[in-house]
Amino acid sequence: MTLTVSVLGATGSIGRSTADLLDQHRDRFRVGAVAGGRDAQALARVARELNAEFAAIADPDSGPALRDALSGSGIACGAGPSAVIEAATRDADLVVAAVSGAAGLAPTCAAIRLGRTVALANKESLVCAGDAFMRDAKKFGARILPMDSEHNALEQSVGEGKIDDVTRMTITASGGPFRTASRERIAAASAADAAAHPTWSMGMKINIDSATLMNKGLELIEAHHLFGIEAERLDAVVHPQSIVHALVTWRDGSVTAGLYLPDMRVPIAHCLGLGERLTIARGRSLDLAAVGSLTFERPDEERFPCLRIAKAALAAGAAQPTVMNAANEIAVAAFIAGKIGFYDIAALVERACEHFAARFPAAPADVEEALAIDAEVRGWSAEALVA
Ligand code: MG
Repeated sequence: MTLTVSVLGATGSIGRSTADLLDQHRDRFRVGAVAGGRDAQALARVARELNAEFAAIADPDSGPALRDALSGSGIACGAGPSAVIEAATRDADLVVAAVSGAAGLAPTCAAIRLGRTVALANKESLVCAGDAFMRDAKKFGARILPMDSEHNALEQSVGEGKIDDVTRMTITASGGPFRTASRERIAAASAADAAAHPTWSMGMKINIDSATLMNKGLELIEAHHLFGIEAERLDAVVHPQSIVHALVTWRDGSVTAGLYLPDMRVPIAHCLGLGERLTIARGRSLDLAAVGSLTFERPDEERFPCLRIAKAALAAGAAQPTVMNAANEIAVAAFIAGKIGFYDIAALVERACEHFAARFPAAPADVEEALAIDAEVRGWSAEALVA
């Protein structure tokens, strides 16, 4: 039986790895829709490669270029946010939600509301609107498969176990490029320094988030929603080799862990397999003796204040994670543009969390409200940067 898969965010790094696996297993999968942001050529290429039925580009101005690039292929296409929603809601057995940023919220939510099985790589769905998102998933019977490496490792480590029996869930962080750097050196870092990720190759935004450890903070918030586990039972540890992605400690002292080489195709294959294991062509197998040693250390929240801020937002709940995420996106963009320094990211995010604590005292009731909060905080953050 062939399964129909749609890929949102098909031109990004997760999308391209997903496309690679779909291409390797053509006997198993048919591709319904692919969606991308603004690169019409790249989107057309992946749509043709995978023989998709429909391609959607989020940027309305890129519609004509996409139509040209697909001419003669028989692949239908559309442009603008409504076309991306169409891609998300076309009939599919599995929707890969790998759009990055808040732009991924609406299409992911649309798929959830149709009760689709969603392989989730879009962090914002859970960070901005986790309560509402998980409530919708339950209400509409949508299954969520965590595609991020740490959460996928948690999912595999939990297996058939009960969350009640878990005393701790630990996710690991590579520590980023500044793991051993002094605070002074980190303070002077440029975006290019921060983007040099030691173990994973990813997009620019997530590279900066990895350097600040905000990424780990976002992932703790995701884990909280995905597994229904409170902040007190969640932890992050630095593990520079990126082999152990997550550990689950059980009531009886047993620990189950998810290990694999840092290759995103592994967690993606786990999601695409829907319970069956897929072979990954050109995949390397883990040889622990060749790796030699696996080391772990506690994260330093003095040098990496974003992790502390994210933990506080998770513990505070309400709309704090939504606010934090929006301010962080603006701050990271300003850092990438060379407008602010590394530690200004944490400073802006913390100011935003304080500023909006009283204004938004409750968690967003739905995705629409989360997006409204997101927009207000972005506007405020952008102004705060120029003030
Ligand atoms: Mg991750």
